[in-house]
Amino acid sequence: MKQLLVLAAAAATLFSAFSASAQTFPGSKPITFVVPFAAGGPTDRVARDLAEAMRKSMGGGANFVVENVNGAGGTIGANKAAKAAPDGHTLLLHHIGMAAAPSLYRKLQYKPLEDFEYLGMINEVPMTLIGKPQLEANTYRDLENYIRTNGGKLNIAHAGLGSASHLCGLMWQSAINAKEAMTTIPFGGTAPAMNALVGGQVDMMCDQTTNTTGQIEAGRVKAYAVTTTKPLSNKLLKDLPTLQEMGLKGFDLTIWHGLYAPKGTPPAILAQINTALKLALKDPDFIKKQEGLGAVLVTDKRVEPAAHKAFVTAEIAKLRPVIEAAGKFAD
Ligand code: ASP
Repeated sequence: MKQLLVLAAAAATLFSAFSASAQTFPGSKPITFVVPFAAGGPTDRVARDLAEAMRKSMGGGANFVVENVNGAGGTIGANKAAKAAPDGHTLLLHHIGMAAAPSLYRKLQYKPLEDFEYLGMINEVPMTLIGKPQLEANTYRDLENYIRTNGGKLNIAHAGLGSASHLCGLMWQSAINAKEAMTTIPFGGTAPAMNALVGGQVDMMCDQTTNTTGQIEAGRVKAYAVTTTKPLSNKLLKDLPTLQEMGLKGFDLTIWHGLYAPKGTPPAILAQINTALKLALKDPDFIKKQEGLGAVLVTDKRVEPAAHKAFVTAEIAKLRPVIEAAGKFAD
């Protein structure tokens, strides 16, 4: 009997601590989005726009901070977020690298499927293959002919092993059977890589339209093709050929972003963040900003944590053979 009473008292304390934490969340402490790439790049862009939309959807009282933790294709930031206090105040906003890293890194310091709570998907973004303004090739055909025989003479920038840009470059070179691999130049994110491309210090890049649309529009880079099977509806990019149309059968790469919390974050806080995320994805300003950059926000079904986790699980399995066929590995 005494034992039962002790248990009941412990459960009551736990329950009140649990509901108190949900009631007081987020309080005055900011919610930090860890972005595992450089400021000003495409993942950072999604994070800053989402932070604004979620600030509104949480009633305007929540403060959001974006912390850029660059390096090693997003794995340094993801590892930092995995080990943060599980109190809802540190969240990870990551892209397809979440699913690519387990196949690219032999010694990953975190487990993507075990060390996080899944909060929901955010968007899907196509990629574009682009080149520096001085590159001789003007069309995708010119480019492919040149690369097939002279690949080794050009370099391609990316955001580190396991990043979306790295993955895209690997898949593309493998799909065209480039005889010699292009030299790869890693950056802390594709914002600094884009500066180097516009400045002519690197030759090529494949990156999300959220980063490339403005530069293509301004004529600061050459655009060759898109990585999705459907042409883009965005009026600036709708004339770009798809890689599939250019003969690379089945070439289809879409980048997605999702939101994660460290494992052990209380369920009531997760539910609160998930509700705020769903509302934010319906914010007309957020929708407009993202659509203008070629991104599509996902529907409610994909913002369900279980659906998000099932999707990432499937992406890990889908990417493994692609990376093994095309890839290089890191320790
Ligand atoms: N676009 C980058 C990538 O290639 C990441 C970034 O800077 O957002 O993964």
